[in-house]
Amino acid sequence: MFPGWRFCSQVCILRWECSVDDWGQIPRYTQLSLAELEKLTLWPWVAKFRTLPMRMFPKRMGRGGILRDLVAPDLRVCPLCLQEQPYICLMWRLTPVQVCLRHCCALQCYCPNCRIQLTLISWQYWHLYCAACDADWRGLPVTAVSDDFLAKEEEQQRDFAFLLDPDVSLVNDDDAAVLNLALPEQLPQAVGLKFRCLRVQEGKMMAQMSRYLTLLKDKPRRVERGDWVSLPIYLDYLAGLDGSWPEFAALTVPPEFIAD
Ligand SMILES: [Zn+2]
Ligand SMILES: [Zn+2]
Repeated sequence: MFPGWRFCSQVCILRWECSVDDWGQIPRYTQLSLAELEKLTLWPWVAKFRTLPMRMFPKRMGRGGILRDLVAPDLRVCPLCLQEQPYICLMWRLTPVQVCLRHCCALQCYCPNCRIQLTLISWQYWHLYCAACDADWRGLPVTAVSDDFLAKEEEQQRDFAFLLDPDVSLVNDDDAAVLNLALPEQLPQAVGLKFRCLRVQEGKMMAQMSRYLTLLKDKPRRVERGDWVSLPIYLDYLAGLDGSWPEFAALTVPPEFIAD
């Protein structure tokens, strides 16, 4: 992966799209700054919702760890993208993403030769080749998708790109001042209050929101209170309010809402 990299055990910390406390020799061997490395992870997304100690012990973690619900357990790739550039896109790792927008085709997750799922980095990992039969991923079948599906994916991926952008936030300091909350410790509460404000503006009752959050009935209250909920719950909640993340970020909470 990195020519001349002798500490191959460090490859494990590149798993699971997590940011790590200590990048070790990776900046030196990749010639990438820490900011550039963090951009290759889901850290900017996670940081929009919570503060989290990113102490990672990748070898001890199960599949996906804290990002379990957000990151696909197996690899999906676009063969046409790989033919052009041999990189795995971060967007492909997100569970809801199923399409390459560049080539208007479905992401492939199985080897057509031996039908096993494409594997992530492992000791047997050979970049761009099936771990079981050595088939080249660049030769995977290309499957077109319908225009309707493509339009939905475009909308979804535009929203996800916003969440992956480290230079934007959902709650700015002005919001936090209006909400009388201290960032970053009370970030989940601030996000929750903005959700509440958006729901009230949309004229929806809390009970209506339960329909979109099928796992636990009290989830709407937990989202708005700023309790710990898994990251996809936020996606479902916003989908229930028919909004986009840039709209959510741009929402200004009116002072009279706080007085209520
Ligand atoms: Zn592609
Ligand atoms: Zn295979």
